[in-house]
Amino acid sequence: MTTDDAYREDTMATIAFIGLGNMGAPMMRNLLKAGHRVYAYDLSAAAMDAAAAAGAHRADSPAAAAAEAEVVVTMLPAGQHVRAVYTGEGGVIAAARPGSLFIDSSTVDVASARAVAEAAAAAGHAMVDAPVSGGVGGAEAATLTFMVGGPAAAFERAQPILQAMGKAIIHAGGPGNGQAAKVCNNMILGISMIGVCEAFALAEKLGLDAQTLFDISSKASGQCWSLTSYCPVPGPVPTSPANRDYAPGFAAAMMLKDLKLAVEAGQSVNAPLPMGSEAAQLYALFCANGHAGLDFSGIVTMLRGQG
Ligand code: NAD
Repeated sequence: MTTDDAYREDTMATIAFIGLGNMGAPMMRNLLKAGHRVYAYDLSAAAMDAAAAAGAHRADSPAAAAAEAEVVVTMLPAGQHVRAVYTGEGGVIAAARPGSLFIDSSTVDVASARAVAEAAAAAGHAMVDAPVSGGVGGAEAATLTFMVGGPAAAFERAQPILQAMGKAIIHAGGPGNGQAAKVCNNMILGISMIGVCEAFALAEKLGLDAQTLFDISSKASGQCWSLTSYCPVPGPVPTSPANRDYAPGFAAAMMLKDLKLAVEAGQSVNAPLPMGSEAAQLYALFCANGHAGLDFSGIVTMLRGQG
């Protein structure tokens, strides 16, 4: 069979989709739009009603959804939910058809991703961890970036499914490496955002105009995504959350979750993370101050001594 034949065959897949929250619901709708048949399951009755209205079949449990499908996609909050849905009582690994493909797009700890992948492989199924970057906007527009960990053959099988939900699909290596890529990337983001915020707070006290700092640093060695695409002060980047009172965007609580995963991963392999740990502490403080729901760039208010 050629790759094109395989692609055509896979574009007509029957998919179990479990976890229909802020991200899962629009991702699932894009699978429907691409012509796939979807059996949907979520603990929330409202999420199930919305999925059925969008054209999905209702399933009564994760196991019932998996039993109907050849591909299972999950988009759940954290590691314990993923372990429960895959390997817990009534889990999808035991219920799935022989040789099913599992795609977990949740952001979870590397250890949970590897444990579940091992259980799937032992039961004769293919699995990839495929966490995403791009947020709810990317999920709606089918422009997510997928960081994929798993065997090459499983990555190839997952491609046509992921293409219906995203635009960049990158193989990061073996099981768990998608999650490793996600925590490393988001740790860079958390640390760099705090650095940019500190620079704007310092500039203000030194009498240097924010727009002037932006014009200089965006063309100098301080240039980074947190500055040029997501500037934490109002003005220089009109689309950044700073221009709408830090409505997310990417909530501080989510950044804290990802930084905690990075710190946990660092501890598990004895990797010193002095800046990552500090960033996690600063986001914990920002969230504890009542700002968990604000965009993560809003931490500039705390660093200015305001929040
Ligand atoms: P969410 O809380 O909106 O959705 C999670 C859904 O999972 C909920 O509808 C919940 O009812 C359901 N659920 C929980 N346990 C379940 C179970 N046992 N069986 C079935 N359904 C169950 O979360 P979200 O924002 O959609 O995020 C999902 C994942 O994607 C998280 O791991 C998050 O870190 C990651 N992520 C989110 C964003 C974002 O911007 N929201 C961006 C990138 C990655």
